[in-house]
Amino acid sequence: MNYLSKISEQVAKVPRSGIRDFFELVQGRDDVISLGVGEPDFATPWHIREAAIYSLEKGQTSYTSNLGLLKLRKLISEYVGDFFNVDYNPADEILVSVGVSEAIDLALRALLNPGDEVIYHEPCYVSYSPSIMMAHGVAVPVATKKSDGFALKAEALEKSITPKTKVLMLNFPTNPTGAIAPKKDLEEIAELCIKHDLMVLTDEIYSELIYGEEEHVSIASLPGMKERCVLLHGFSKAFAMTGFRLGYACAPAPVIDAMMKIHQYSMLCAPMMSQVAAIEALQNGAKAVAEMKKAYHQRRNFMVKRLNAMGMECHMPGGAFYVFPDIRKFGMSSKEFAMKLLEETSVAAVPGDAFGESGEGFLRCCYATSMEQIREAMTRMEQFVRNLNSQ
Ligand code: PLP
Repeated sequence: MNYLSKISEQVAKVPRSGIRDFFELVQGRDDVISLGVGEPDFATPWHIREAAIYSLEKGQTSYTSNLGLLKLRKLISEYVGDFFNVDYNPADEILVSVGVSEAIDLALRALLNPGDEVIYHEPCYVSYSPSIMMAHGVAVPVATKKSDGFALKAEALEKSITPKTKVLMLNFPTNPTGAIAPKKDLEEIAELCIKHDLMVLTDEIYSELIYGEEEHVSIASLPGMKERCVLLHGFSKAFAMTGFRLGYACAPAPVIDAMMKIHQYSMLCAPMMSQVAAIEALQNGAKAVAEMKKAYHQRRNFMVKRLNAMGMECHMPGGAFYVFPDIRKFGMSSKEFAMKLLEETSVAAVPGDAFGESGEGFLRCCYATSMEQIREAMTRMEQFVRNLNSQ
């Protein structure tokens, strides 16, 4: 059968993830040190795993409310109130989703009509542009620059706003650059959103993982912004719970209600076992989060120092767990560089163009891996760069 005519044209247009393609090459090679996939090397803290196991032992294996367990939504409301400084009503302003991934999809599908434009800053998480396309929107990237620490500047943003712009997507700290957003930048961005009546999808999945003096500020906490924001957060990164697939969206009730319509028919609810684990994470997980954050902080400092010393220039990322060195001076594309690095040193890092055109000329190195592995990867990369320089 010719499946080309059977597959939806919209889906056929969507490219495969550049990260997955690259990592298929690495599969089955146990000599490879991976600075690739963006997930914590830590197993989920034991007390959280134990809560999930106990929930299974008790036979808690049913569906939950579509929005998620009320106890969990109450705890999320408290956590978001304390941490992000925005109050959401657990009854109708919070939806528990299958990871932030599902929440991104729900929010876009709930907000967009065909042809609506969605602006996002690039380089960015690989799912943004495909998710916008699959929601029949038009993806409008705004390139950010290394010289600005990959921050999104209001001036650049305003140039991309048209009468068709409906949504702005933000992600601070940013995957893949580790950029954070100073409050002043967010205030200027918020002003533009109000002026142009934009909705904002703010993916704050890395917000606990900020290492410097600056505190995380959510754009939803700024005056006049809660009503136009969908705040997305989850348990994958800070709590090391990627496999539990648990996230949440906080937004005004009519937006949550629209997202709920899609969620109830497509997903029904997030897994109960994971929701019970998330309750434990919010009640007793702070210490483990702080310990993992301390480890990431040390690894970030070490990796940035070593990369700069070997001539792979990188800015100091303020958050998340990625370093984004500039490889333009080596005269190769990101893909060529990453492939050569893999072939010659068995170190895997993601070519920057996987995160959009403006990521070309960069490499994403994830430091959510052990210090021992990072040390060895840096030694191999140093030799690799020395060889390149002597050619
Ligand atoms: N948003 C960003 C910026 C990410 O980097 C990721 C995962 O890497 C996700 C969302 C997906 O998170 P989840 O595991 O909650 O679906």
